[in-house]
Amino acid sequence: MLKNGLNFLKSVSVFSSMIVLSKEQDTYKDKGARRNLVNELKAKGIVDSKVLEAIGTVPRHLFIHKDFRSHAYQDKAFPIGNGQTISQPYTVAFQTQVLHIEKGDSVLEIGTGSGYQAAVLAWLGARLVSIERQKDLYLKTSKLLANLGFEVECLLGDGSLGHYQQGPFDKIIVTAGAPRIPQALVDQLKPGGIMIIPVGDEKEQLMHSLIKKSNGELEVIPLHKFRFVPLIGEQAW
Ligand code: SAM
Repeated sequence: MLKNGLNFLKSVSVFSSMIVLSKEQDTYKDKGARRNLVNELKAKGIVDSKVLEAIGTVPRHLFIHKDFRSHAYQDKAFPIGNGQTISQPYTVAFQTQVLHIEKGDSVLEIGTGSGYQAAVLAWLGARLVSIERQKDLYLKTSKLLANLGFEVECLLGDGSLGHYQQGPFDKIIVTAGAPRIPQALVDQLKPGGIMIIPVGDEKEQLMHSLIKKSNGELEVIPLHKFRFVPLIGEQAW
């Protein structure tokens, strides 16, 4: 039993920063489409070269249903089952860029979903804990990340409460739309830490970046508008 009163199921995959895929798993066509996506994201204002390299390396087509493979490198969200979506690549790149991931950073992700955002963060060297509230997605995605060799600690539970045991974290990323900033997550951010979270109503959210100063004060910076599925939980909808 955890301090926040939840039981978490846990699954950890084995680390490898190298993703080794066969030519069938990752074809020249997939690689070419990824390069085009990287150029599209640059044109849309993503400037962090490590983030662009991660997008250019992580095989997004393996994180969505095989029927969508030929669309995988369009800058679009797609359904992943259970009423949820894989985030648009621009959104993944934007949120990741704000976090300024350094190798070894402890990072908490809320909303594992397809695992694509988690894979990008792990590729950048984050020590990642990712929480998903839907059991089907948790089971499917934790297995996929492990099979692809990404070291991500996947947990099943309500991420709006964070994860006290492994906190505080250097960085926190919320990938579902929250009605307000959950205090539990603020409490689990280290001094000097950064959180990125979309906040708004069920239709539209304003991305917020939060920086916790060394004296504990919060600097809250509103950024652009996005559309996410809702964050559902005790400190959420
Ligand atoms: N990061 C994901 C990706 O790369 O595919 C985005 C997934 S989707 C936009 C948001 C996810 O947040 C969904 O899978 C949903 O089930 C999950 N979610 C919503 N509320 C949650 C909560 N309180 N705790 C954990 N996961 C939550």
